[in-house]
Amino acid sequence: MSYVTAFSPNYATARYRFRTSAQALGCRLEAYPINQTGPDGEELTIDVAILGDPHPQKIVIVSSGLHGVEGFFGSAVQCALLEERLIGWSSIQGAALILLHTLNPYGFAWRRRWNEDNVDLNRNFLLPGEEYRGSAEKYRNLNAFFNPTSPPSRFEPFFLKAIASILRNGINDLKDTLPIGQYDFPQGLFFGGNSPSPTHQILAANLPQWLGNATDVLHIDFHTGLGKKATYKLFIDDLPNFESTEWLINIFGADAIETYKPGGTAYKIRGGLGTWCKTMFPQCNYKFLTAEFGTYPIIKVVEALRAENRAHFHSPPNDSSKEWTRQRLEEIFVPADRNWRHTVVSQGLDLVEQAIEVCFPPQEL
Ligand SMILES: [Zn+2]
Repeated sequence: MSYVTAFSPNYATARYRFRTSAQALGCRLEAYPINQTGPDGEELTIDVAILGDPHPQKIVIVSSGLHGVEGFFGSAVQCALLEERLIGWSSIQGAALILLHTLNPYGFAWRRRWNEDNVDLNRNFLLPGEEYRGSAEKYRNLNAFFNPTSPPSRFEPFFLKAIASILRNGINDLKDTLPIGQYDFPQGLFFGGNSPSPTHQILAANLPQWLGNATDVLHIDFHTGLGKKATYKLFIDDLPNFESTEWLINIFGADAIETYKPGGTAYKIRGGLGTWCKTMFPQCNYKFLTAEFGTYPIIKVVEALRAENRAHFHSPPNDSSKEWTRQRLEEIFVPADRNWRHTVVSQGLDLVEQAIEVCFPPQEL
């Protein structure tokens, strides 16, 4: 069978589908408004479906759409899971599955990676006591190039300009500067916000009750846009020699797991959701995987983000660049290619099933 049909054409359809299939399975459903509306005036909510024991010891969490437009994919995995794979999933005592649908509903509905305040939500989860300010030293130098204050053009030689910037500043500077998160340029790329976002507040208020007295949590957060097309990597921000890292490598394979290596290729971001979850719930053995599915080369991803952000802030209202930059962003993060769509959903479903199998082994029935 093909999983192409698991993709919804827009946020409203995705939300309806998620809620309907969750209800049909007997999930407990919750909805948290973020006090924003979508392009057709629709209410935007983070929806939560919970299946299994109301007082679980072990929990698998699957979340989607922290980066708005990437939610087309994460939602497709969650909907396919509910519609195809969980039918007949008998609840195991002490086990629960929690699906967090669209952590950035504004970004999904309006096809942006950022939220209603231009915030990259995976840079917004600073820990208590950490301040929402600061940026990498070199972000200031790159700001003019990555965040021009003029409308975008379809024919800009971005690639040549990017090469020139890389030659000037070095590729490592770019990698260590742009994506790690910044708190000084509210209209810039990878802005982490000035304070905890509505999503941050909703999770802070509700995760304690969802987790209850659970002792073990395995959380998979679905993303797209990083890595080789139609393949995936599971990023964890722990060092390779941690016991939990070794456990994850045993389950998901050394090829898939990317650990944090100081000086290595995986950069250390600020305000990431995974570090926050693990720090805020020290009573649980909380394991967090950022599952990244590749789409296009990184230079194209940055080009599309830059153009969309320019149009968002600097194109006149109703200018055609608002639409073509969003369309391009959607293609970059959720390619229309049917093979890509089928492959990534199938891989995503396998990952969740692996997680369920290892957390709720049949001998514990
Ligand atoms: Zn992402």
